[in-house]
Amino acid sequence: MRLVADEPAPAAISSVYVHAPFCAQRCHYCDFSVTVAPRPDLEGWLAALAAELDLVAAEGRFLLSPALATVYVGGGTPSLLGPEAMEEFVGILGPERFRDAGLEWTAEANPESFTAGLARGWSAAGVNRVSLGAQSFHPGALRWMGRLHGPSEIGAAVERARAEGLMNINLDLIFGLPETVERDWRSDLDHAVALEVPHLSLYGLASEEGTPLARAVREGRVTLASEEAYGEDFLQASRRLQTGGYRHYEVSNFALPGFEARHNLVYWTREPYLGLGSSAHSFLHPCRRWNLKAWGAYQEVVLAGQPPWESEEKLGTREVALERIWLGLRTAAGIHLDDLGSSAREVVEEWALEGYARLEKDAVILTPRGWLLLDHLAVALDSAVEQDRGGGGPGRPWRVGGASAAEPTG
Ligand code: SF4
Repeated sequence: MRLVADEPAPAAISSVYVHAPFCAQRCHYCDFSVTVAPRPDLEGWLAALAAELDLVAAEGRFLLSPALATVYVGGGTPSLLGPEAMEEFVGILGPERFRDAGLEWTAEANPESFTAGLARGWSAAGVNRVSLGAQSFHPGALRWMGRLHGPSEIGAAVERARAEGLMNINLDLIFGLPETVERDWRSDLDHAVALEVPHLSLYGLASEEGTPLARAVREGRVTLASEEAYGEDFLQASRRLQTGGYRHYEVSNFALPGFEARHNLVYWTREPYLGLGSSAHSFLHPCRRWNLKAWGAYQEVVLAGQPPWESEEKLGTREVALERIWLGLRTAAGIHLDDLGSSAREVVEEWALEGYARLEKDAVILTPRGWLLLDHLAVALDSAVEQDRGGGGPGRPWRVGGASAAEPTG
């Protein structure tokens, strides 16, 4: 990441995120914008997306490119929408936008609803990357999380994807479970590697307000993993997956060579994207805006012809500077050393001595130990960069001891 790069001029947007808000049941830790429905409202979802697209086009700010580079259908559980949903979605956005041979189109699925028919329908529509919510291969851990699938359904879903030519597969895994769950993290990592999927994403369990997990923690029925155990899970995963041939290319993502998630790179490099659906975010420098979170409210508003965007923020120079540092430190591309003045250099050299970063020819790149302190280190480096720019700031901008572990979620 360059800290002093020119900001891109507003341009046509070639990346789209679409939120599918339906889930069969709510997992105990989840605070995403989902609505629990035995039968998802496919027609209603498509009608709402079409209405929102009309509103976006009429507004004329977030203009879509004639050819999309990345599309990500997330949720919620997009696999609940059935085999035809993706083809119908293409019809709404316009088939011509999906014709680029290099398009990366990801859709999320849960193993239990990723049927052979669904894989066939997605593949026929043009989906070429599947992200499966595996989370664990341990039956007790899956039950504890409130997941609907068992361990064997993960491998079966991977096979179904491959049978339809969907070879670019990601598995999501959750680490940092309470010790009482007695999940064998090392064994889960071994299982994931054995499936030979080209991409793995790790999520650290967090207690989010309003979830059953948060209530259980508050009432003393669950004790979250200690900071030490959480960090050890993360470091163990980094070691094991790198031994398995994966590159730890972003704080919570691992890929075999050539399989890095291009849609996520759009987020990490501050490229513009359009978000459609309830709770979706859009970004076009310097503005970030987000839609109404609840599906019902979003649907009602958008079908009445009203914009569903709840609010937006315009990032100021200082916010952009911190964001660039934070995003740069997230990835294995790191931050260009040429952009760092003497105070900032002193900081990153000390990180290198402490084992939190390595200095390569022209970049500072966090190590996995550094990634555990990502938020803390980003603030510290931002402070030093600001000091170099003459903006003042604390003379000694960072301390590692006592920092809380950054949450390496995607
Ligand atoms: S399936 Fe995913 S989105 Fe749905 S409740 Fe579970 S964690 Fe949340």
